[in-house]
Amino acid sequence: MHAKLPRRVLGSTGLEVSVLGFGASPLGSVFEEINEADGIAAVHEAFRLGINVFDTSPFYGATKSETVLGKALKDLPREQIVVCTKVGRYGPELFDFSAERITASVAESLARLQTPYIDLLQCHDIEFAPLDQIVNETLPALARLKERGLVRFVGITGLPLGVFPYVLDRAPPGAVDVVLSYCHYSLNDTSLAGLVPYLRAKGLGVISASPLSMGLLTKQGPPSWHPAPPEVKAACAAAASHCAAQGVDISSLALKFALRNPDIATTLVGMASVEVVRANVESALAALGAGGGDAAGGTSEAAGAELRALAEVERILAPARDVTWPSGRPEN
Ligand code: NAD
Repeated sequence: MHAKLPRRVLGSTGLEVSVLGFGASPLGSVFEEINEADGIAAVHEAFRLGINVFDTSPFYGATKSETVLGKALKDLPREQIVVCTKVGRYGPELFDFSAERITASVAESLARLQTPYIDLLQCHDIEFAPLDQIVNETLPALARLKERGLVRFVGITGLPLGVFPYVLDRAPPGAVDVVLSYCHYSLNDTSLAGLVPYLRAKGLGVISASPLSMGLLTKQGPPSWHPAPPEVKAACAAAASHCAAQGVDISSLALKFALRNPDIATTLVGMASVEVVRANVESALAALGAGGGDAAGGTSEAAGAELRALAEVERILAPARDVTWPSGRPEN
């Protein structure tokens, strides 16, 4: 792998981010138990191969992800890295978006990440908060942290797409720089595309996470806690079986599909091993024609098999297309 991983500009932040970003939730052992040394090696390999965005949260593995990422980052040139973490979510049912808690939370994250500043600080899963609190209390507190130089840019994350315009239509310009959406730009769900023109018009950077639909689009399948309804799980399992029978890697197919959308600055994939990092960088280079493959992403024979598999996967996934699941407060 000699080609360079392409970068895209993250909205009006001006940050140039690698199209493939390192999702650090697996470093918190949220999918399976991981060995810390393997996780650190994965971060180092990702950086070596051109990944410059690393996304974590105090929620992932009850702070373990931030701690492991911090240990890995201290050996890398900090100014070349975009460190993203979050505030507000601390457990499956534990949320606190108050100014007091998030200010303390940032101090704790800085210590765990072993860094003097966070490039992108995001309100984590805002559908679990009263959205007016995000507008009136959380974002102003984050603006004060920006003024103190502890945070460079501010983002909001969540599952239901409707929470983003609610907050963005009420917050002052510049209060939010980036939106992180997850499980809405993948082979089975592309509903984020409908929101992109609105986000672009506001100059926001767009991050998409979970292009493998949190493990649904993998040969090993999703973790037991996966919240998708049965018809989505069944359709994705059928798509994975079809790919396996054709000798096609469904994760590579899914990642290439997600990375080809130029409106998404970076796509975060969960990774915790050197092997998975290498496989995903290789898929990214093939998808964007930067790895010596043809336009379809790979050698002609393999690309032909992938194109045929893609058509069949889209047919298999059609009954579950854009089907999602409830998340957050009923009013959101
Ligand atoms: P994902 O869709 O990236 O799937 C991750 C799973 O797929 C892990 O089990 C990983 O080991 C596996 N995987 C990755 N590459 C693979 C490959 N090539 N072959 C087989 N398996 C592979 O889901 P995710 O990890 O939940 O999302 C990515 C990142 O996005 C997270 O780590 C997190 O940083 C971010 N995220 C944020 C939010 C939020 O802010 N609300 C929500 C979801 C995800």
